[in-house]
Amino acid sequence: MADIIQLLPDHVANQIAAGEVVQRPSSVVKELLENAIDAEATEIKLIVKDAGKTLIQVIDNGKGMSGTDARLSFERHATSKIREAQDLFQLHTKGFRGEALASIAAIAHVELKTKLPSDELGNQIEIEGSEIKRQEVVVAASGTSIAVKNLFFNIPARRNFLKSDTVELRHVTDEFHRVALAHPTIAFKFYHNGSELFNLPSENYRQRIVHIFGPKTNEKLVPVEELTEVLEITGFVGKPEFAKKSKSEQFFFVNNRFIKSAYLNHAVGAAFEGLIKEGYHPSYYLQLQVDPKTIDINIHPTKTEIKFDDEHTLYAILRSAIKHSLGQFNIAPVLDFEQ
Ligand code: ADP
Ligand code: MG
Repeated sequence: MADIIQLLPDHVANQIAAGEVVQRPSSVVKELLENAIDAEATEIKLIVKDAGKTLIQVIDNGKGMSGTDARLSFERHATSKIREAQDLFQLHTKGFRGEALASIAAIAHVELKTKLPSDELGNQIEIEGSEIKRQEVVVAASGTSIAVKNLFFNIPARRNFLKSDTVELRHVTDEFHRVALAHPTIAFKFYHNGSELFNLPSENYRQRIVHIFGPKTNEKLVPVEELTEVLEITGFVGKPEFAKKSKSEQFFFVNNRFIKSAYLNHAVGAAFEGLIKEGYHPSYYLQLQVDPKTIDINIHPTKTEIKFDDEHTLYAILRSAIKHSLGQFNIAPVLDFEQ
């Protein structure tokens, strides 16, 4: 028998990986916003057209890239964020897989413009389906702009699978909310089809929540704070009488990363037991800080699920912290917006 195994060419491998990382426009939004945050940007602009189907652009004032790095950033497993497997247990960045840009470039038209603050001129690169079409030295602002056009142009099945603009824009907006909530001190702007949807200044967490969910939210927030050796909790829960039929305002951030956890959600539910009617759900906006050594983020390509070493302890601390806050709020209901 002849040998039949071959290594897949890079562009094919990238397209396969893209299937995991990029499900829809909102996945691109998440990856680009997270890259801007990792680049230590203080101002980030998100520009979207047709719910992201034709354009997703993120412009940041972060640390930018050199010309060589700009090319390399589109290679698979190319990352400036980790050097060895051990680094996974002391992560301080959102990214580490070095897969997002390679994946995105495999399934869209990408234009990157970037400049290091210390350089006079920047670099512009155009990529289509993993192929670099053009690289030029250009005048550019410090930081990075990445425009992703015509998502899934070379995968019609995926493109046809996308939902209506209304649905896709809702996903994009959800992703924007998550990132903006996780980083209240970063200023964000968000435009869709030329109109401004959000203009968020650098602010505190309470102000950010109120900016995103509306002025009425302010009176419903009950602060939660619990600082223990294994877990630090800060943030807010909604007063029981504001419980909703939908779960649209339930947020856990672990080390500033939005995550989903049915188990921790249950802990919050347990703290509200007896206070909320059947079929209603509490709102919560909780920031959890844990030692990066005690979690594994690398169990899912989109990193929205993580594994905790000791879930049971976290559950107990979370439940009791929220119970305590709800108890206190009965005695002291006056909350200060500036706090
Ligand atoms: P990862 O974020 O996992 O490292 P990406 O494919 O998202 O992988 O990005 C690859 C690399 O490109 C990053 O490690 C970073 O060095 C660089 N990069 C991407 N986006 C930006 C940006 N907005 N500003 C500066 N550098 C960036
Ligand atoms: Mg990244």
